[in-house]
Amino acid sequence: MHPRGPRPGRSTLPGPPRRRYNSALFRRVLVLAASSSRFKSYRLPAFALALLLLAGTGAASIAGVGNLRASNALIEHTYQVLNRIEVVDQLVRSSEASGRAYRLTGHPDFRRQYLLVVPEVERELAALRALTEDNPVQAPRAQALATLVRTHMAELQRLHDIQEMFDMEAARAATDAPRSLAQWRRIESVSAQMRDEENRLLAEREVRVRRAAAGLTVLVVLGTLLSSALMIWLMWSLTRENRRAQGLEREARDAFHEMALSMARADRLSQQRHRLSRYSGLLQSCETRDEIMQLTATTLTGLIPGVSGQCYLLRASQNFYETIATFGDAAISSADLLLPNQCWALRRGQPHHLPAGSDGMRCDHLDPGAPLDTVSSLCLPLAAQGTAIGLLHISVPAAQVSDEDDLDIVGQIAEQLGLAIVNLQLRETLRTQSLRDPLTGLFNRRYLEENLARELQRCERRRLPLSVLMLDVDHFKRFNDTHGHAAGDALLAQVGRLIQAKVRSEDIACRYGGEEFTVVMPELDARGACERADQIRAAIEVATVLHLRQTLGPVTVSIGIATYPGDGMTPEVLQQLADATLYRAKAEGRNRVLHASYRD
Ligand code: GH3
Ligand code: MG
Ligand code: MG
Repeated sequence: MHPRGPRPGRSTLPGPPRRRYNSALFRRVLVLAASSSRFKSYRLPAFALALLLLAGTGAASIAGVGNLRASNALIEHTYQVLNRIEVVDQLVRSSEASGRAYRLTGHPDFRRQYLLVVPEVERELAALRALTEDNPVQAPRAQALATLVRTHMAELQRLHDIQEMFDMEAARAATDAPRSLAQWRRIESVSAQMRDEENRLLAEREVRVRRAAAGLTVLVVLGTLLSSALMIWLMWSLTRENRRAQGLEREARDAFHEMALSMARADRLSQQRHRLSRYSGLLQSCETRDEIMQLTATTLTGLIPGVSGQCYLLRASQNFYETIATFGDAAISSADLLLPNQCWALRRGQPHHLPAGSDGMRCDHLDPGAPLDTVSSLCLPLAAQGTAIGLLHISVPAAQVSDEDDLDIVGQIAEQLGLAIVNLQLRETLRTQSLRDPLTGLFNRRYLEENLARELQRCERRRLPLSVLMLDVDHFKRFNDTHGHAAGDALLAQVGRLIQAKVRSEDIACRYGGEEFTVVMPELDARGACERADQIRAAIEVATVLHLRQTLGPVTVSIGIATYPGDGMTPEVLQQLADATLYRAKAEGRNRVLHASYRD
């Protein structure tokens, strides 16, 4: 599994800082919600108070208006009393005037006028008494006034009656003017007292009404103002809360949006990690470079649709990079061979990203006509132990690169790819080293032992022969002593090449040890083996080797052969017999081929 976090020394692609979902946002939402609920807790009492104020103002207004109406009724009552006093006064004067006119002229019209007034006076006096009966001050006065007026009217009636019965002279003679004047003055005095009292009451009631009206006005204005202010404050706070709620909702929406993005990104990252982990796992099982490249191409295509790319490997001897694989429909074509200084990624030893449409530095290995406006290009060095052993160049249509995560994952793939290629090279080297002899390039003894038995079984199954050759350089010790160990090595390498050149591809040519060689020749009988062995012997007999500008050799070899099935049935028997035959060849004078059982 690939580790999650960045490792020291790991190449990471440049990109914008990642936005992480932050719990601070939730904390803010909670604080806002709490402050909003605090606000709500005092909004209700404020609303109730405003309603109470309005109701109070209304009730006070109704009561005040009732008071005013009652006071006005009292004022009206006073006016009525005043009016009655005035009417009584007028009627008395009128009866007085018409009575005097009758007494002076004797004209009956004046008597009729007088007679009309009399009941009216009675009516008005009764009305005045009724109006003032609840007033302990005015009621006795009204009573007194009525008595006085009646007395006065009775006096007038008496004079009229005298004039009716006698004549005008008799009536005039019966007139008691001073008494009549005194009566009249008393009437005037009482009515004046009553008028004054009523005027006093009027003034008092008017003052009370004015005060009540002013108080009511103040109450209504204050109540209205206060409740209006409360209502306005409530409206303002509601609006403010509404705005805050909208802000909160916006923030919550943003938070959820961000969280959705974050979750989608986490999902994508997890998928990418899954693919990367599968890629790593499968990479371990790849046995060839082609398999590695095919897996890489499939993984990259799965991660980024529309991706295409090219992989280069360093040819160390010549210090250039050559293409080993391509995949996808190359949106940007790149040179087949490139020098390290043609690529910014190789120069700097880190990924070089050229986003679509950017004016960044473009690498020289890219096609000059490449559509860099619509396709982004990414060069990633394939590094192993700090050395750029290759380069992965990929191009992606602009719309397909979603974010820096994609680039990051490609960086990780390049990292794994570099390691996998180096591992494969290492494994191949180790395998070669474990199977081949480094000096001659032939197979080693271990390989021989593993494969001889198998080849023998195969020939046994197919009823075919198999020959085993043992070859030993003659007097090699002497050659070593004469020309030195290094020259001996060069000679052994030359002998190895000659043997390899003379055997068939299905033969197994090995260095058995020291200056001894073994060749397994499946399907070759004794005769064929002897012929092939003699070709080898003859080729070595004439070959020389150039060592330190000196031509050395030639040397000779002796060869012993044993053939299945005639000479033996097992690898051990065949090898022992071939070896014994070889020593026989040595003993017989060297530079010869001997078969264990076959003779020409
Ligand atoms: P003969 O004709 O009887 O085979 O004589 P010989 O001298 O070849 O026989 P011997 O087995 O006595 O000598 C083999 C020598 O080969 C001894 C050893 O020093 C030398 N030798 C073995 N392996 C190597 C090697 O890898 N390189 C070199 N230069 N010499 C080797
Ligand atoms: Mg030997
Ligand atoms: Mg020898």
